[in-house]
Amino acid sequence: MNFEDYRGVWVFIEETDGKIAPVSLELLGAGRKLADKRGVELGGVIIGENVKRLASEVYEYGADVVYVYDAPIFKDYRTESFMKALLDCCEKHKPEIILYGATSTGKDLASAVATDLPTGLTADTTELDVEEDTGLLLASRPAFGGNIMATILCKKYRPQMATVRPKVMKALTREPGRNGKLVEEHLPLKEEDVRTKVLEIVRMATKKVKIDEADIIVAGGKGLGSSDGFQLCHELAETLGGAVGASRDVVEAGWIEHHHQVGQTGVTVTPKIYFAIGISGAIQHIVGMKNSGLIIAINKDPDAPIFESCHYGIVGDAFEIVPMLIDQFKNV
Ligand code: FAD
Repeated sequence: MNFEDYRGVWVFIEETDGKIAPVSLELLGAGRKLADKRGVELGGVIIGENVKRLASEVYEYGADVVYVYDAPIFKDYRTESFMKALLDCCEKHKPEIILYGATSTGKDLASAVATDLPTGLTADTTELDVEEDTGLLLASRPAFGGNIMATILCKKYRPQMATVRPKVMKALTREPGRNGKLVEEHLPLKEEDVRTKVLEIVRMATKKVKIDEADIIVAGGKGLGSSDGFQLCHELAETLGGAVGASRDVVEAGWIEHHHQVGQTGVTVTPKIYFAIGISGAIQHIVGMKNSGLIIAINKDPDAPIFESCHYGIVGDAFEIVPMLIDQFKNV
């Protein structure tokens, strides 16, 4: 493999209902820095139906070039069709780095592409850098339960690939009118070439804020006693316009669905404010929320480990304190 044939940093641009996912804009910000350090172009890859019009937004957030696969076959995300498009793009344009959001789509696509190329993939990264002269991507992520940061290198293959957690990188300020180069690609892919069909998309009947995009998260633990007690978290979250999070024990008790679980085996979140209510503060929970801007813990046990990982701690009964907070915030 001749590494000199591979140039440029790419971001896979994730799109849903005609809107670019916030994490893709964040990755354009991160990708810009890597591309500048290397002196190469930053590219965005958009795959979908009626997505060409998104290119202008991708330039305005930092890309120099946009590769588009715009066809009805790409209407819904399917691993196989998207993977084939991306593989085709890699073969034609040979990027040295590809970044994906660590979302369900990004993780699925990145692992499929990595297997087929083949190349390495660093999952769930939180820090990115690149060696200026060699182009080696330094992709770092928490390891061993969040106790160390591991920097993972892909020395033998190109492109080097990483999925990056949402809300860790910063999007650039949008630069209206910033332009770039559009590369329209076509793949002669037929419906019968794709083994899966999307029969129906059932949207979750919720207008609630998504946990990985929320600025405020109200997370509850087993200390809330029951599914009824856990409703306090929903009430406070609604009052503040935030999302609801939970510990694993709460999810296992069936008080809320798994995608609300924060921690090692749930999601990693970095909201501006994180309330931990009736959560003891097990390391597996802490690794998922410790980078939040402001952590406020409410626990009736003054020795609960959560108090070692919070900025403000309130020792007391959640059933007395949370209703008071709700009252106060409603009056702000
Ligand atoms: P508890 O530990 O039971 O804590 C309840 C807390 O509520 C206590 O501190 C208590 O003092 C307090 N309390 C009780 N009553 C009140 C009240 N009225 N008012 C205020 N406070 C009150 N956990 C996660 O959360 N996320 C993960 O992703 C995760 N992954 C894991 C992976 C592995 C491999 C393993 C082994 C474990 C994992 N866990 C995870 C589980 C984790 O170890 C803990 O068991 C779990 O986080 C505890 O949940 P909790 O804090 O809700 O419950």
